This record gives sequence, C-alpha cells and structure tokens, in this order.
Amino acid sequence: MTTALAYDPFNLQHTFPRHPEHSGRLEGTWKLLEADGILDSLLRVESKPAPIDAITAVHMPFYVEQLEAMAAQGGGKVDPDTYVVAASWQAALLAAGGLLSVTDAVLTGETQNGFALVRPPGHHARPHTGMGFCLFGNVAIAARHAQKSHGVKRVLIVDFDVHHGNGTQEMFWDDPSVLVFNTHQFPYYPGSGALDETGAGLGEGYTVNIPLPPGVGDGGYLAAFRQVLAPVARRFQPDLILLSAGYDAHWMDPLANEQLSVAGYGVLVEELMGLADELCGGRLVATLEGGYNLDVLPHCVLTTLRALHRDPAGVSDPFGPAPGSETDISALLAAIKRLHRL
Ligand SMILES: [Zn+2]
Repeated sequence: MTTALAYDPFNLQHTFPRHPEHSGRLEGTWKLLEADGILDSLLRVESKPAPIDAITAVHMPFYVEQLEAMAAQGGGKVDPDTYVVAASWQAALLAAGGLLSVTDAVLTGETQNGFALVRPPGHHARPHTGMGFCLFGNVAIAARHAQKSHGVKRVLIVDFDVHHGNGTQEMFWDDPSVLVFNTHQFPYYPGSGALDETGAGLGEGYTVNIPLPPGVGDGGYLAAFRQVLAPVARRFQPDLILLSAGYDAHWMDPLANEQLSVAGYGVLVEELMGLADELCGGRLVATLEGGYNLDVLPHCVLTTLRALHRDPAGVSDPFGPAPGSETDISALLAAIKRLHRL
C-alpha cells in the first residue's frame, strides 16, 4: 500500500515578506521531493477547500466569518504574529481540506497512511481566533471530521512540534474521545503545556504534556515516546493516529533550542507507525506544522515520507546529529509516568 500526499501550490500565495512562516518553506520542500523522485510512488490526493461545517466543528462561526471578511478586504492580522493576506482565506480552507483528503483516503482504506504538506499551520489556532502563524486548527478539524464523517470513535493526536499545540489542546480539553499528546520546549511560546495540564471533566487524563527543557535530542524524545506515549496509546486504543508534524525541534532550527536530528525525526515516525500497526490497522495521518530552517525542513519531510512509505532509501540527513550531549530527562519522564499512572 502506498502513502497519500496532499499538496496544493495555492498555499504558496499565503505569504508575507520576512515572516518565518512564508511560502519558501513549502517551495523548498517540494523541490527536494521532486528531485528525489519519491512523488512517483505516492498517491496524490486533491486538496479541496474544507467544508465550513467541518471548520465550525472546532471554531466559533464568528471567527470563521471574521477571517473571511479580513481576507476579502485584502488582509490584516489575527494576532501580532499571525498575518492574513487576500489569499489566506482560500489557502486556509485548502490547508485544512488537503488534510481532510488525506484523512479520507486513509479512512476509506484507499491507503494506510499519508501526509498533508500544507500551510498555514494549525496547532496554535484557538476556537475563537487564529494565533501563532496558524489560522485554522487543521489537525483538530481532521479529528472531528474522522469522527463525524467516518464513525471513528477515538483519535490520538501526537504533536512533536517544538511549540506546545495549545489550540489543539483547548479544542479537546474536556473530551475523552480525542487524546492529545504533546512534546514541546517549556517554558516557551505559547506558554502553555505544563505537566499538570491533563484535561478536565470527562477529558481528565486525556491530555498528556511532556514539557521539555532545552537541549533534548533523539534519545530523550524516543524515551518519551516509548515510556509515555506507547503505554498511553495502548491504554487509549485509538482508531486513528494524527500527527502534528512540526520540524522546529531540529537542532538547527532558528526558533527553538531542542536537539532532534532528521534521523531522530524518522525514528519517531517509525515508532508512531509501530503503534498504528499495533492499535489501529496502521492508520496514521501527518500534517505539517512548524519547521523554519529552510535547508533542514525539506529533509525532515522527505525522511517522514520515506518512513511512512517504508521506502528502503531511508533517512535523508545531510546535517547529522546535534553537536554535544543532550539534556537528560529521566527524572521528568518518571514524574510524568507517576502523574498519568503508567
Ligand atoms: Zn512550532
């Protein structure tokens, strides 16, 4: 079985000069994928604009209308970091819609897994506003769509972007049908994601945060996945795993201070595939979030696609591991295991 891929060049039109989240992130990535030849072996799915009711399943209708109106008037800002240009409305619909197409391909059994190479990213977008470069909560929209349109019961969302996925967390805070697992540098933007943020009401225990000190690398991340994510996932028994694939935890990323390598990202994706194989028929859908080093990001995406596709070419990592030793997080992981009774 092949791997589904969504990519729409219209997403390049949502861009802003000298902003870290600009069209070059996708352009460079696409160029490497074309040069590599992997595109020939993937199942290309069409990015259609996400239906408004799929978006209002997680966002408040007034915000959706506000965003459309702002773009129609030529643009503006939904928060100090988050620009809107004339093309942003359509780009945001296509970003969420591209992920929905990949999710549909996986949930109809057309393919086992897939990747949505989309932007603007989504995991900071809150129910009532865009935030942190994000306009719509793409991964949250996909989780609800899976439940409403495909009868999926339990969705596990894994977010390895270096920033805490506060928007995704907020959307499922009291919901036991969507478990949100986050690894992120902490304290750091956006400020949320502390250890004791574990959900509320019926959703208590269905939010799992791994707030990392700076300097955590391949070993620490893998330990977090094996010691915390794996037992959490086995207890939860998801029907689908979604991945908020942010590549800004790479050691060369300009926005943060973690030490993952491209190869390390590949290992994390393989761990997720192992869990998906064990728990939910291999159903795993990834969507692009952050990643701001323009040299590194394309190799992270290529490596992820090769892992998903079980391509023998394997890792594409010209940069190697981070120099120096990584921060030990064994005490942190022990505390998290106690907190979540693992
Ligand atoms: Zn990020």
